[in-house]
Amino acid sequence: MALEQYIRDIVDFPKPGIIFKDITPLLASPKGTEECLQLLINSLKEKQIDKVIGVESRGFFFATLLAHHFNAGFIPVRKPKKLPFETISASYELEYGTDTLEMHIDAIQPGDKVLIHDDVLATGGTAKAVCELVKQLGGEIVQVNFLMELSFLNGREKIKEYDIFTAINY
Ligand code: AMP
Repeated sequence: MALEQYIRDIVDFPKPGIIFKDITPLLASPKGTEECLQLLINSLKEKQIDKVIGVESRGFFFATLLAHHFNAGFIPVRKPKKLPFETISASYELEYGTDTLEMHIDAIQPGDKVLIHDDVLATGGTAKAVCELVKQLGGEIVQVNFLMELSFLNGREKIKEYDIFTAINY
């Protein structure tokens, strides 16, 4: 079965006009999860990776699987005031206003080879903010990968200096 078939479109969620890409059928399928994971792993050709970042919250699932595969550490990037230790932060523009993401200050050591993972690349604002967090701590971004890319939103443009991989393209 094609990977797209594990993704469920939810119309007008969480608000009118949005087609939400629901990954729960993919997560509920060991076969779909394994296929998707292998695609992401193969795109990295056994590169050295020290840390895998998962972006709250749907980025956490595959980021932990990838971290385990590459024998790397898993690092959560979260919404403000969720992480218990000292944090660094980066903000990004939304349609109305801004949003902020945080990471623990000791999450990455200078020179660490870092893989960034999230479920969906839409406008690219989230991914760009995460790249800025990694740069603040001196990490080297090996790849930014996603389960899906909504390519009509051209989010790639915002992170074009990095290697980008997406398992499914819309
Ligand atoms: P963006 O910053 O616009 O690239 O948005 C990416 C973030 O928003 C990711 O963390 C996604 O989980 C979430 N996101 C954006 N659009 C969608 C969508 N259509 N379906 C599910 N999640 C989305």
